[in-house]
Amino acid sequence: MAYNPQVVDAKIVSHNSKNGLFEIVAQLKDRTVCRLIYEQDVSGGAKVTHINRLLKEPCPICRKDYLCNCMGRFKEDISSQALNLTGMP
Ligand SMILES: [Zn+2]
Repeated sequence: MAYNPQVVDAKIVSHNSKNGLFEIVAQLKDRTVCRLIYEQDVSGGAKVTHINRLLKEPCPICRKDYLCNCMGRFKEDISSQALNLTGMP
């Protein structure tokens, strides 16, 4: 079964106006929490560069409760949903 991440809450947790880097913490419907790191391009658009799952709940895909890379496959999907909720910083 394909994993279908659904972002239910997202917050901008840091923003560096000098270099345009910012971070969003996103909560998914299955209680997974991810930290997303973005960089801003010259046109003001945002590009996600990293996603890390915060280790509060086991991974919804592989069920590990330590570091894994599963969320990387859903980086674009999760990050665009999160940005829709927060808007640009
Ligand atoms: Zn995993």
